[in-house]
Amino acid sequence: MSVMFRFIVSLALPVAACMFLAAHYFRAGALGMIVFWLLLPGLLWMRSAWIKPAFQALLTVSMIVWIQTLADLIHFRQAFELPWLRVGLIIGGVILVSAFGVLIFEGRALQGRYIHNRETGPVQAGAFLLTLATLGLLYAELSFPVFLLERFFPGFGPVQILIMACYAAWISGKLMDPKRAPTVRARLWLFFSVVFFVQLGLGLAGWEQFLMTGKLHLPVPALIMAGPIYRGEGFFMLFLFLGTVLMVGPAWCSHLCYIGAWDHQASAMQKKPCALPAWTAKIRLILFILVPTVALGLRLAGIDWIWAVAAAAGFGFSGLGIMAVISRKTGIMAHCTVFCPIGLAAVAMGKILVHPVKAYLVS
Ligand code: SF4
Repeated sequence: MSVMFRFIVSLALPVAACMFLAAHYFRAGALGMIVFWLLLPGLLWMRSAWIKPAFQALLTVSMIVWIQTLADLIHFRQAFELPWLRVGLIIGGVILVSAFGVLIFEGRALQGRYIHNRETGPVQAGAFLLTLATLGLLYAELSFPVFLLERFFPGFGPVQILIMACYAAWISGKLMDPKRAPTVRARLWLFFSVVFFVQLGLGLAGWEQFLMTGKLHLPVPALIMAGPIYRGEGFFMLFLFLGTVLMVGPAWCSHLCYIGAWDHQASAMQKKPCALPAWTAKIRLILFILVPTVALGLRLAGIDWIWAVAAAAGFGFSGLGIMAVISRKTGIMAHCTVFCPIGLAAVAMGKILVHPVKAYLVS
């Protein structure tokens, strides 16, 4: 038997398990889930080491889905005194296909298949599965369409989740290379920011689906804190920020902020960075206290929202000026390390929330 033939025969079980799940969601009319399970086997053609544990985990979850389905069906049929043996045997067979689908990856035919980037495989598989799990939870729980694809093609959120999980696996592999990680991080960060502003631009041009909640928010990070204080509502960005700090610590400010990427680009223009004066640390602390205090003051004084927006826009443009002049000249991210109050919040909270967890895991 040729290697390719053995490979195809070995993968028949995991592919069949995916097809059965596509059929399961077809009965439920969940179009996005059908496409999800139809696309998933495409990953089996790759040779990266993360594919194996990722598939084994997904097929194990699929077994749980089938066991739950089987229990529900038997319960339903028994309640109405309908025969259930045949359906039990059919779904039992499907569960066995998933189980053998998991085991086949340990067989000889696939032993030499998923061998590329073995050292990063566990992290990439973890990133893939964690992304699927967290975004899947968001998809199931949030009442508004948080995923872009869902806003244009209702029901197709799971397809975007699959794409994002693959992206997570890919970038985590790249970031595991310590030599290339700084360059990769800067590029990914910039890419993220470009995608963010393109979406914002399209939203402003009239395609409201590109705006997350359909409402416009000024892209000024300080408003993550000041906005809810002034409005007394609209906590989405604040919860998003706190959630990411909880998961990845201060990495919000080095990977996920749409503005920080530009400060990084501005500072990178100066090849020989020089230190900022010591007093800038005091300015940072003053701004950290001042921004929420002003927001609260505007609210208590009943200042009209138009003035609050003008103040926020003024703050945002001042930040751009700092990037263009100080960050570019000094080679230090002056906007992020002095001007933006969220930077200090991310660093402080990251230390408080993440370090004890890290220390516990290491001990
Ligand atoms: S300090 Fe502010 S602007 Fe800079 S990355 Fe953090 S949140 Fe973004």
